[in-house]
Amino acid sequence: MFSERIERLMGSLIREILAAAQRPEVISFAGGLPAASCLPQLDFSGLPPDLAQYGTTEGEPQLRELIAAQARALGLQCTAQQVLVLSGSQQAIDLASKLFIDPGTPVVTEGPTYLAALQSFKLFGAAITAVAQENGQLPPAKLEQALRTAKPRLTYLIPSFQNPSGACYSEENRRALAEVIDAHGLPVYEDDPYRALSYDGEAPAPLVSHLKKTPWIYAGSFSKTLAPGLRIGYLIASPELYPHLVKLKQSTDLHSNRPGQWFIAQQLADPAFPAHLQSLRDTYRVGRDAMQAALEKHFADLADWQVPKGGLFFWLTLKQPQDTRELLKTALAECNVAFMPGEPFYPNPQDGIGHLRLNFSHAAVERIDEGIARLAELVRAAHR
Ligand code: PMP
Repeated sequence: MFSERIERLMGSLIREILAAAQRPEVISFAGGLPAASCLPQLDFSGLPPDLAQYGTTEGEPQLRELIAAQARALGLQCTAQQVLVLSGSQQAIDLASKLFIDPGTPVVTEGPTYLAALQSFKLFGAAITAVAQENGQLPPAKLEQALRTAKPRLTYLIPSFQNPSGACYSEENRRALAEVIDAHGLPVYEDDPYRALSYDGEAPAPLVSHLKKTPWIYAGSFSKTLAPGLRIGYLIASPELYPHLVKLKQSTDLHSNRPGQWFIAQQLADPAFPAHLQSLRDTYRVGRDAMQAALEKHFADLADWQVPKGGLFFWLTLKQPQDTRELLKTALAECNVAFMPGEPFYPNPQDGIGHLRLNFSHAAVERIDEGIARLAELVRAAHR
């Protein structure tokens, strides 16, 4: 009855388990949700009435200008004509999948990487090679080897405060990776939704800003800085890719919602916006520090991790590996704690055994220690 690609849809086991994490008594470290207190008041009272009409696929001109200016300030040379406003940055992953991936097409990612990118690449039938990070950086020699052997049509990277690892590549690492990518000239996708959530200094300039000749897509989002419910994100693409991405979006949803674009543009243009970002950073830094303190207290002998300098997650490597999907089931059933198991973050789920991702932006800060303590108790019990 269905297309062949439906066979490749990944199981919904995790989704089912996480539905249970919505119960109010659960301390959830599972999702990547902004803190409720950080969400803006959605005021549409000044909305121009003509925004009820159909708009252009590319997006609202004012918002495209603001996005391009923001990217240039980061060091990415681009114009508003290269900006495509999207229904969430997840859509950039869908459009890139449609542009590049046929069944069997090689794709290179980091391992671990964003699970919903893997879902999309797999849906289109990609053969995925993952390159492992080492000490929070991506070894250029390993990427070079992957590009040489897999010859991917697409390389997908999250250099700043990666989901799930929290890693942020240094300026030097980015330059070295860009050189490797340029030597092969195979298209690269930089996913950058967490950049603004930095707690110990800014992330270095986007990796793609160092490219000299390779086609690129750079994706950003307003989900983490403003409101995920508006579903507004964007991509910026090199000129040879841009027109194809616009056509693909046209056939997907014509254009992104115009009132949402208007609202975001108002916020970005507001002189108070930098203060809003600063208050987000201050709030999430408290969560990050509370989780680090709780982990040091309860997990020191159970797991290894690096303190993330930005983003929304800690990534734990258990000293004694265990199936973290099983651990999640027990954690929910027996101690009302939720987290993300490591397996779905790898193209080969086996590689994720013994890893787990913990979010620190959503659970109330006062409950972080208690949640981590309960989780540590479970991990310890599994050792007995
Ligand atoms: N990329 C990464 C790495 C993400 O973590 C997320 C959301 N968690 C997205 C893309 C999609 O975000 P959105 O569609 O809300 O912009």
